[in-house]
Amino acid sequence: MKSLNLLSESLIQKITGEKSLPETKFFINEMKTIGIEKLPYGYASLRRFIDPETMKFHYQKHYKGYVNKLNSALRKKEYGDVELEKIVKQISKYNTTIRNNAGGAFNHALFWKMLSPTPQKPTGEILDKIKKDFGSYREFKERFESVAKKRFGSGWVWLVITKGGRLKVMSTQNQDNPLMNIFDKGGFPVLGLDLWEHAYYLKYQNKRDEYIQNFWDAINWKFVNELFLSKTKKEETITESFMINEQKESYTPIGKAIQNYMFILSNNKNLLWTFRKCIDSVLSDVYGENYYEKGEYAPGEMSGVYDIDGIKGRSVLNKLNTNIIGFVILLHDINKAVVKMGEPEITLVGKTPKEQINEVYRFCNYIKKYKNRIFPSSNTLTNIMNILTKTHNKGESNESFVNTLLKKKLGDENVKTVGKLGSEQDMSGGVDIILTIDGVDKTGQVKPIYSITQSEGEYVIKIKGFVKDYKTDLLIFTDNKKVYVFDNKNVDASGDHFKIPSDNLIYELV
Ligand code: MN
Repeated sequence: MKSLNLLSESLIQKITGEKSLPETKFFINEMKTIGIEKLPYGYASLRRFIDPETMKFHYQKHYKGYVNKLNSALRKKEYGDVELEKIVKQISKYNTTIRNNAGGAFNHALFWKMLSPTPQKPTGEILDKIKKDFGSYREFKERFESVAKKRFGSGWVWLVITKGGRLKVMSTQNQDNPLMNIFDKGGFPVLGLDLWEHAYYLKYQNKRDEYIQNFWDAINWKFVNELFLSKTKKEETITESFMINEQKESYTPIGKAIQNYMFILSNNKNLLWTFRKCIDSVLSDVYGENYYEKGEYAPGEMSGVYDIDGIKGRSVLNKLNTNIIGFVILLHDINKAVVKMGEPEITLVGKTPKEQINEVYRFCNYIKKYKNRIFPSSNTLTNIMNILTKTHNKGESNESFVNTLLKKKLGDENVKTVGKLGSEQDMSGGVDIILTIDGVDKTGQVKPIYSITQSEGEYVIKIKGFVKDYKTDLLIFTDNKKVYVFDNKNVDASGDHFKIPSDNLIYELV
């Protein structure tokens, strides 16, 4: 049984290997290093605006310098897998070196694309919006120029979409960017002009105003408009009803789905792993400053969301990535939107392993798409939080029940609890508890169970979470009436339940 499962898992991995899936692209935005943006034209192409020598130095030395220094600063900090835009958005978490170089890398990557070798007239939705928010294109131009001219020393001038959806002109110093979370009233920059001397000095020397004037004929309005659209385009109009409206809505269909999904996800760990990565990435996107990398919140703490909803410390929300009911509620609600848009419902039931992984990718793409409708507040999230909190509290009460019985049996000093909610030991599938039995320390995992039955020399145990291999010395189960302590040897955890040889039972406590 076990070897068959291993075989099928390795087959699934072969079938779903990275290259065969276009959807894997979705996860590749976590790069190892920040890449260099290609210059979309030659150094001499912008001659009317900027001379080739300046372009070459600007691109080869200044821009690449920012990227290289950023990568080496990130390596030193062991910040590793990161996305440039994400760093910029969460810049308050980083030091000045990273702030300057991430800004430099991001600003220039945008700037190159905002320039065009051939003059373009402003057009499209961005022009309409400019007229609406500034009165006219001329008034916008005047505003942009006057803010640019007032910038003292090095910096940038930007046209920004604020969080409220309005356009405004603002200037930042050094390599700061309006997207950085150090600005209360920033936003996403759709147009920017580099006001550093290195950007214009060879051609214009001290005549910076002339450089600013000439900028207007070098703007790639097509790109600016596309960028504007990508940042403002309304998500497909779907009514609020896509979220569960009534908190008390019957969960009957969800109840059935839970059984199905528990089975499917337990039998193909790839699916769950993909979902976990997806949730982690969305939480870090949405919660920004409240999302901490490993060890960042406090030494030994796992990465995740902390200090939200007025509760200090690690949020139960982090458990969404492994909670089956959370998975099903999210799927149920997202399917309401999927169906409204005329697409087939996302489901893993009755599908081949390859189709299942594709469905999980589709699910994840939708979670990403609707992340801002779901988090940080929606009926869907309220329902999920209720479940996660309940599960968590149940876990705590189970744990204290287990502790009480074990202490009665072994003595207070021989029972030590280790894994707190999401602590390193707990999350790494590690250790909940350490028991000292006959003078020997033994590590243990504690699991609440649905059912325990004994037949043909083995116990069959169904638990309330996902079944997986644990490396602890002991497996400890409770149904809140009894506590079972098993030796963790020759345990079959390959299906959706544990199979444990009867001889492994060390204690059965009441
Ligand atoms: Mn520059």
